[in-house]
Amino acid sequence: MSHVFHRSLTQQYPMAVKGEGPYLIDDQGKRYLDACGGAAVSCLGHSDAAVIAAIREQVGKVAYAHTSFFTTEPMEALADFLVERAPAGLESVYFVSGGSEAMEAALKLARQYFIEIGQPQRKHLIARRQSYHGNTLGALATGGNAWRRQQFEPLLIDVSHVSPCYAYRGLQEGESPEEMGVRLADELEAEILRLGAENVMAFVAEPVVGATMGAVTAVPGYFKRIREVCDRHGVLLILDEVMCGMGRTGTLFAAEQEGITADLITIAKGLGAGYQPIGATLVSGRIRDAIANGSGFFQHGHTYIGHATACAAALAVQTTIQERGLLSRVCELGEGLQRRLSERFGEHPHIGDIRGCGLFQGLELVADRTTKATFEPERKVHAQIKKAAMQAGLMCYPMGGTLDGRQGDHILLAPPFILEEHHLDEIVDKLDNALNSVLGNR
Ligand code: PMP
Repeated sequence: MSHVFHRSLTQQYPMAVKGEGPYLIDDQGKRYLDACGGAAVSCLGHSDAAVIAAIREQVGKVAYAHTSFFTTEPMEALADFLVERAPAGLESVYFVSGGSEAMEAALKLARQYFIEIGQPQRKHLIARRQSYHGNTLGALATGGNAWRRQQFEPLLIDVSHVSPCYAYRGLQEGESPEEMGVRLADELEAEILRLGAENVMAFVAEPVVGATMGAVTAVPGYFKRIREVCDRHGVLLILDEVMCGMGRTGTLFAAEQEGITADLITIAKGLGAGYQPIGATLVSGRIRDAIANGSGFFQHGHTYIGHATACAAALAVQTTIQERGLLSRVCELGEGLQRRLSERFGEHPHIGDIRGCGLFQGLELVADRTTKATFEPERKVHAQIKKAAMQAGLMCYPMGGTLDGRQGDHILLAPPFILEEHHLDEIVDKLDNALNSVLGNR
């Protein structure tokens, strides 16, 4: 019996022993095409020579230096790299080890900012239903994923949740997508006013919703209006780009495509592409200055913040993406993937919606396309598809996302940026086989 406390204590996992480009290979020699980057992580595949060399080099120089004693070259260089390319006003970077830690830091930075500027009553947080921001208690409280929160509700801080921007199920009768965006921004404003604007600290959202709903992009204009509402009431905007950032949607930051900036942006996953665990919170000059000119010290920290080897790996990942022009490749491949998905599954009786941006694509599964009725949650269709796909040699990320009131199923695709066109065909063929084996041949 394994002594590892695995994710599932009832499941058997194949043993991954080797990575080769976009494939993972198990100890039986079976190859799995990684069409989801694990969880939108492995954007450079699994054997990038430049990243491996950069890690070796850094470990040989200085593997780790505690940040209360030293700064390091890779940490400084990675911060420069990110700030040069970040949306306007984001001027410094706080490095952590993953997405949840990046969210915790963002929440505490927002809180400390308001204390520093003499508005300590601003402590209320607003986020959206059907969102995921991490599993640590602050991040879990922020997220609106009912299934993930359920058992831990008594431990969670109070956060208001407004409607997500989810056109497939959220459009009202006769409403255009743009009108929906306005209505939802108005809903946020109404919630701010209900709480008293002077009490509200921040609004948190994923520009493209990942794990909970499967690559749901916002309707045009939504985020611009959200930004206006936040500004009008002095509320900070925190964008969670842990999953959708770092080139996944075709631009380094997803916010670029919305034409907005944020006060804090969290990133992780694609930042280190899985070669090292790393995340970061990008911080506006305004917040940094308020803390620098006030107490001078962010009341937070972990042992591994700014880990030198993790920063060196992430810097190598990001420079490789730039040097190889992979962001435009994401756009091309993303279009190719979306076209193939639409051709193959556009009329599929159990696929209600195909959506996404760049190499971040989602398929929503339905029992009935006309009524959009979901499958019975007990059937765990998403879990069956994951299993069938693994049997077929494909990693995809099916999830039982929570819709308002009940469980729905979707599949998230977030493959590496280094694919060739033939890999797109392999993804669609293997996915088709997996769907047929679970849902019956069409
Ligand atoms: N935010 C988002 C949008 C995420 O998708 C995730 C992870 N799925 C997190 C935060 C948490 O990141 P981590 O698992 O690295 O803690």
